[in-house]
Amino acid sequence: MFNHATRPSAPKGISFPEQRAWMVRHQLEAWGIADPRVLDAMRRTPRELFVPEAEQDATYDDGPLPIGDGQTISQPYVVAHMTETLRLRGDERVLEIGTGSGYQTAVLSLLAAEVFTVERLARLAQLAHQTLERWGADNVRFRVGDGSLGWPEHSPYDAIIVTCAAPVVPQPLVQQLADGGRMIAPVGPRGYQDLVLVRRVGEQVTQERLSPVAFVPLIGEHGW
Ligand code: SAM
Repeated sequence: MFNHATRPSAPKGISFPEQRAWMVRHQLEAWGIADPRVLDAMRRTPRELFVPEAEQDATYDDGPLPIGDGQTISQPYVVAHMTETLRLRGDERVLEIGTGSGYQTAVLSLLAAEVFTVERLARLAQLAHQTLERWGADNVRFRVGDGSLGWPEHSPYDAIIVTCAAPVVPQPLVQQLADGGRMIAPVGPRGYQDLVLVRRVGEQVTQERLSPVAFVPLIGEHGW
């Protein structure tokens, strides 16, 4: 997954906390991420814990990285941008589709009351669960399955974030969005999509197209 702009990679040869602080300043703040809670969460989330051993040197580069099974850990800027669109204030119940490495999940866990995350690949879900547990996240619930169906048992959700691309906004997710809720999802053909912000007020649902992105596909009943 990537966003088309190129931002500078953090310098090597300094510690991970220093690279992280550098990343927040030069890849996020300098590129318009302004919500102080999101910036703080990005500063507190050690991406190195979620990046495979072979990719450690590239931890604070500006891009996604492979995590095995043809999947990726998301680019820091895209994690921050998508998170910011949800306008989390701390008391929300959030649904995430596509746990992947658990990095985005970790950021959400610092910003909301409860995070429910669904991943279709058991190996990735298990690894992310272990990493988040070791890191100390205690407000995350995990599920292995088809996230295009959402997780109806815990709905409605104040916010939903989809970190894999669907041809259209999956309807089960719209149905599981609370009144006043916000959902961010990459929507479009395989290979390139737009981030779409879905807002629900009562029975009225609106969609707004934001920036271009390229995510791996959402594989499932309401995906590809
Ligand atoms: N946000 C994650 C991170 O920071 O590591 C990256 C997510 S990765 C780009 C997308 C993930 O969505 C992959 O792990 C993939 O297996 C998962 N995925 C694809 N289709 C899915 C589905 N129907 N339900 C749940 N997860 C799905």
